[in-house]
Amino acid sequence: MKVTVLVGGVGGAKFLLGVQKLLGLGRFGEADATAHELTAVVNVGDDAWMHGVRICPDLDTCMYTLGGGVDPERGWGHRDETWHAMEELARYGMQPDWFGLGDRDLATHLVRTQALRGGYPLTEVTAALCDRWQPGARLLPVTDDSCETHVVITDPADDTQRAIHFQEWWVRYRAEVPTHGFGFVGAEKANATPQVLEAIADADIVLLAPSNPVVSIGAILAIPGIRAALRSTPAPVVGYSPIIAGKPLRGMADTCLSVIGLESSSHAVGQHYGSRSGTGILDYWLVHEGEATADEPAGITVRSAPLLMTDPAATAEMVRAGLNVAGVSP
Ligand code: GDP
Repeated sequence: MKVTVLVGGVGGAKFLLGVQKLLGLGRFGEADATAHELTAVVNVGDDAWMHGVRICPDLDTCMYTLGGGVDPERGWGHRDETWHAMEELARYGMQPDWFGLGDRDLATHLVRTQALRGGYPLTEVTAALCDRWQPGARLLPVTDDSCETHVVITDPADDTQRAIHFQEWWVRYRAEVPTHGFGFVGAEKANATPQVLEAIADADIVLLAPSNPVVSIGAILAIPGIRAALRSTPAPVVGYSPIIAGKPLRGMADTCLSVIGLESSSHAVGQHYGSRSGTGILDYWLVHEGEATADEPAGITVRSAPLLMTDPAATAEMVRAGLNVAGVSP
């Protein structure tokens, strides 16, 4: 079976572990690993240049998590990390001083940056990095083009409006500045890669992880070609809500939703994605148990199931519930 999943970082990576657990792939691969194929279409809107190296936070979070190298406390970055390079950069007074770059992590960025500078596309560079980590899934950046998420804020220092990189908003300001909107800079010139379009078209099922609907899934959907691919694939498209009891479980998805004028509810996010029978992208929408309402987003079949990704086994059951509702079995 071919499963294609749209993902962001930490939430997306946890979800992929659940898919792997269900299908016996990657670290869970005692079963016949050739029977199933998992492809992750990964957000690149968080990517940035920092200190001359290219950072791809969501790709790396997925790669480290699936490859068994993630820091278990933080849920991102390299395990057994040290921070000597950061300390030295600070002594030189280098900016930005608010973005943490671990020593081990830095090696990944150096390899990637050299390969990108050598003219290799991000898709190939990611595959080369994955040769080492063996994540047990194909990790595909949604695009090889630059398309970075920027955020329009009122700068607390001088009260003027300006656009800053998503990383500055998220890491430096913790999303706690007056925020007016998001822009996907470069989207109009970007293209989804042929590998991504094929992974969506040829899938037996397409899943939207419960990743941030605005800055993870939203940034993927901003890449030209992705919406059309989701709308035209013969595979069922199943989304999982990141909102439980009116709040995201982690991160600042509620802030992101309110900036684009949506309330923090599973219903609102489902409606925002919309139904494929209308102008949207979903056939099925999974919400946390007890949260389905009589008022379903038009044209979408809503089912409830436990959506807490407490461990890969619980996440595997959550994935299974989505497969069941779509009538697909591994
Ligand atoms: P990021 O790029 O690292 O912020 O990670 P993602 O965008 O992939 O995932 C963040 C989202 O995952 C947040 O909006 C959370 O609400 C959601 N999330 C985290 N843990 C869980 C969980 O256990 N269940 C569900 N349903 N959503 C979760």
